[in-house]
Amino acid sequence: MPASDLDQVVNLAKRRGFVYPSAEIYGGFRSSYDYGPLGSLMLRNVKDAWVRTMVQQRDDVLLIDAAILGPPQVFEASGHLENFSDPLVDCTVCKRRFREDQLEARDCPQQRKGCAFTESRAFNLMFRTTAGPVEGTGAEVYMRPETAQGMFVNFANVLQTSRKKPPFGIAQVGKSFRNEITPGNFIFRTREFEQMELEFFVPPSESGKWYEYWCGARLAWYRDLGIPADMLRIREHAADELSHYSAGTSDIEFRFPWGWGELEGVAQRTDFDLNRHSQHSGQRLDYFDQATNERYVPYVVEPAAGANRAMAAFLLAAYDEDEVAGERRTVLRLHPRLAPYQVAVLPLSKKDELGGPAREVFRALSSRYMCDYDETQAIGRRYRRQDEIGTPWCVTVDFDTLTDGAVTIRERDTTRQERVPVASLADELARRLGF
Ligand code: ATP
Repeated sequence: MPASDLDQVVNLAKRRGFVYPSAEIYGGFRSSYDYGPLGSLMLRNVKDAWVRTMVQQRDDVLLIDAAILGPPQVFEASGHLENFSDPLVDCTVCKRRFREDQLEARDCPQQRKGCAFTESRAFNLMFRTTAGPVEGTGAEVYMRPETAQGMFVNFANVLQTSRKKPPFGIAQVGKSFRNEITPGNFIFRTREFEQMELEFFVPPSESGKWYEYWCGARLAWYRDLGIPADMLRIREHAADELSHYSAGTSDIEFRFPWGWGELEGVAQRTDFDLNRHSQHSGQRLDYFDQATNERYVPYVVEPAAGANRAMAAFLLAAYDEDEVAGERRTVLRLHPRLAPYQVAVLPLSKKDELGGPAREVFRALSSRYMCDYDETQAIGRRYRRQDEIGTPWCVTVDFDTLTDGAVTIRERDTTRQERVPVASLADELARRLGF
């Protein structure tokens, strides 16, 4: 059974070192989070899994890493300066601020005596700052609210250096910043987060076909990494929900403990962005097809996902409690690609004679996999600890190892144990892990 309550995962995340409140020793910092030793490994695995599927296993997508800070011209052209806002209302009595479109009623949820809202106004979500050495004279710059503009402003560069032709894509993974009015629900909505976005450039007549394709491919990605089908759905946006650039958007949603929430949006951005950047920069951003002698501005289909939201969904879906030999245990049934550690090496006892061979096993496996090494406490407790952090395989080195040259592999989900010669351990793990 996946987690039914967000707190189950929030507590485990804190207790085991996945996610901590940011600047906690100062009381925490406004719904910001720091990723601890396990969380940073898992978040990296989520992003790596995305790059593997979206870039490595295709020959039509290229990866870039663009700057986070950008000049106002980029966001004027993209429409973010004008349109990237949420409707904000203030309560004149309790002084709290709310996103009007997220309120269930027109009354202040604080319900204090006399609570009353101001008129709603558009609140731009971009963080603005200044670049330059002298205070007050610096140039105005913005922190990107999405990674997508990096792909549009580099379209001509990438086209020229890669010699690709549509359909082809430019992908990017990196931080984005939005001054959210109401961040919350753990790492679901924060002001600083990581996105995994693909801008897929296609001949205009193929845009519908590719939109369908990417909706299906992206849904499959979450399922292949272990999210049960009944916790995922695709929801098409109604016309009044569409962003200023979109001719059609579908959200891939996950059943969070508080209800369905967006993991990713797949949008038909048409030729909006390339046209706007072309008009604003005066540069030609189109494609000349030598085969047909035609020049056209490609249409864009964009699957835009959030790495942190995906991580929250993977954690919630993987959370389970069961009973092993009459004892309750918490187990994270994470896909091996996403688990912080793929393998834990556990010498049965702390004695030196086991430490040597166990360290050797660790050295051999750690060149291929992220491995934990743990020699403290009783072996049963160490297994529980690894179950709780999602490690799919434990390798135990015991006194028999010294004579038979074999170790025990223990499987997280079934707790089944099997004896395997050290010489074939790496291959056996590769076979079980599938990589
Ligand atoms: P929402 O409606 O939840 O504010 P959005 O539709 O504005 O999201 P997009 O602009 O489509 O989001 O961004 C693509 C993805 O980036 C989202 O599906 C989400 O996974 C992630 N994302 C967006 N805003 C945040 C945030 N504040 N915190 C964490 N992830 C975010």
